[in-house]
Amino acid sequence: MPDEPDLTRPHVALPPATRAGKPLTRVLAAGGAGFVGSHVCDALVANGVHVVCVDNLVTGRPENVAHLAKSPLFTFLEQDAAVPTAGLAPLDAVLHLASPASPQDFDRLSVETLQAGSHVTHTLLNLAVEHGARFLLASTSEVYGDALEHPQREDYWGNVNPIGPRSVYDEGKRYAESLVTAYRHRHGVDSVIVRIFNTYGPRMRPDDGRCVPNFITGALAQDALTIHGDGKQTRSLCFVDDLVRGLLAAVASGHHGPINLGNPDEDTIVNLAQRIITLCGSSSSMRFVGAAPDDPRQRCPDTSVARKVLDWSPQVDKEEGLARTIEWFRSHRPAGRADAGE
Ligand code: NAD
Ligand code: UDP
Repeated sequence: MPDEPDLTRPHVALPPATRAGKPLTRVLAAGGAGFVGSHVCDALVANGVHVVCVDNLVTGRPENVAHLAKSPLFTFLEQDAAVPTAGLAPLDAVLHLASPASPQDFDRLSVETLQAGSHVTHTLLNLAVEHGARFLLASTSEVYGDALEHPQREDYWGNVNPIGPRSVYDEGKRYAESLVTAYRHRHGVDSVIVRIFNTYGPRMRPDDGRCVPNFITGALAQDALTIHGDGKQTRSLCFVDDLVRGLLAAVASGHHGPINLGNPDEDTIVNLAQRIITLCGSSSSMRFVGAAPDDPRQRCPDTSVARKVLDWSPQVDKEEGLARTIEWFRSHRPAGRADAGE
């Protein structure tokens, strides 16, 4: 396996980790052992910030943060973030990144997903009150549901089925946004809501169920890729390094959001599958099955707010981001498997 990132030399150009112009010293990252969270932990540690990572590993993996264990700046607490953590040294920021995020998990982890939006948000907001800390909520483009406006701007209220298969996630995040806003008004919590659009990159679980890991693992194994519906539904994919830059910029800003963070480079799912097959040097075919219920038809962020208030825009294009992700999946495949393109 290739070496994990050298944390003294960030592989992504990072803004300094600050809050209101002052360097961050100590941050709690709930969900820090997940895909996005572990990259955020890397970025903070690389900035010299002490990170307390709280994760119950419901969808995260210890190996995502194992390389951080040797850093004196990193503390891992394996626990449910809904349970209050007492006795922590002063925190400058609380980042709420803890939630199942793959549609395949919304049935298996239905109540846990709702609790990540509700109980966990509540507990972490109380922690932010106790510490006078900045609070970041990792919300989602799913709050727009099967959007009737395109591209999606932050002032669009969304089109969500409250009892559909995705509702535990969508409604959980909508509740979380409401709770964060109530705490800002009632308790003066200095908070920011970011709405993350589809993000991909190294450390996604191969069996995560989302399109990028499914297509890469399928293409590398020369299996047929399953396409839901006609494959003409669109998504706009953001590479994880770009997202992490945006999240740090949101913490450093004084902005309350909501702020869309995503890459507006929109494409159909069938084109994405074909591109991955080609990049993998694979001869996989595609197998079309019935459309997933409530599957959003078109998704693309309007990123004007992020550009204006964070001076942020994505920099990694799809060819490069997918190539780096495929390379990671290749080098982390189960031992003894020969892959496409080898
Ligand atoms: P992930 O499943 O890899 O990471 C989520 C992490 O949260 C996991 O490590 C999991 O174990 C942990 N977790 C869940 N519930 C918890 C709880 N109650 N207590 C402690 N830890 C808990 O998913 P991800 O893709 O890294 O998503 C991270 C965050 O970003 C989530 O809040 C998700 O909703 C949001 N988001 C991600 C995307 C994306 O495309 N990756 C898009 C929109 C929003
Ligand atoms: N999808 C697909 N085959 C797969 C996984 C996903 O056709 O193996 C489709 C899915 O139906 C959706 C799109 O790809 O239309 C993006 O799915 P993903 O789960 O990655 O993200 P989300 O639906 O949450 O945006």
